[in-house]
Amino acid sequence: MHEPTFPDLPIYSEHTRFEVDRAIGRTLFACDLSECHGACCTMPADAGAPILESEIPELERVFPIVKKYLSEDSLATIEGEGVWRREKDGSVTIPAIRGRDCIFVTYEDGSPTAHCAIEKAYRAGEIEGFPKPISCHLFPIRIYPKGSSFEIVYESIPECKGGRARGKKEKIPLVDFLESPLVRALGEERVKKLRDALGE
Ligand code: SF4
Repeated sequence: MHEPTFPDLPIYSEHTRFEVDRAIGRTLFACDLSECHGACCTMPADAGAPILESEIPELERVFPIVKKYLSEDSLATIEGEGVWRREKDGSVTIPAIRGRDCIFVTYEDGSPTAHCAIEKAYRAGEIEGFPKPISCHLFPIRIYPKGSSFEIVYESIPECKGGRARGKKEKIPLVDFLESPLVRALGEERVKKLRDALGE
């Protein structure tokens, strides 16, 4: 098993201020790909997954390595648009194929389930330090800018119905299931404080 290496922990500096949605502490959740088939990577939307400015060079670094996992459609979209794009509001996103599949989606052996090609390469030890963009890693937790601070929220979408059912059945708290991306985003100390604040 490839060990995680996140050299620039935490992504959000120690001076960042956060507000936390208390629903995060009450939610039981564990993704169930057999139910959703990786719907969060293929949902129709005006814009693809949001990324941080600091992730632009990471996407450019990993693209030549993950290229072999991508479809002709992905490669054609990347040829036209690149691996990231600037939205009108200044934010940065990952392009999607005809407003649906993320350009980094990969399917295995005719399976209908979408996987992230970056994560696949990371798990195979082909890339280091970047398992996937933090917004994808954290989903269905989202971190939104809010004035001079940020808001940490749980985004409950119908596509995650199977994830909620599995979390409830197996009694897995959302913060446990997403411990690794939370630590990547906030650092261990702040994840401990987050758990305390949520009353665990
Ligand atoms: S976040 Fe939701 S849609 Fe995405 S893989 Fe998990 S359960 Fe499926």
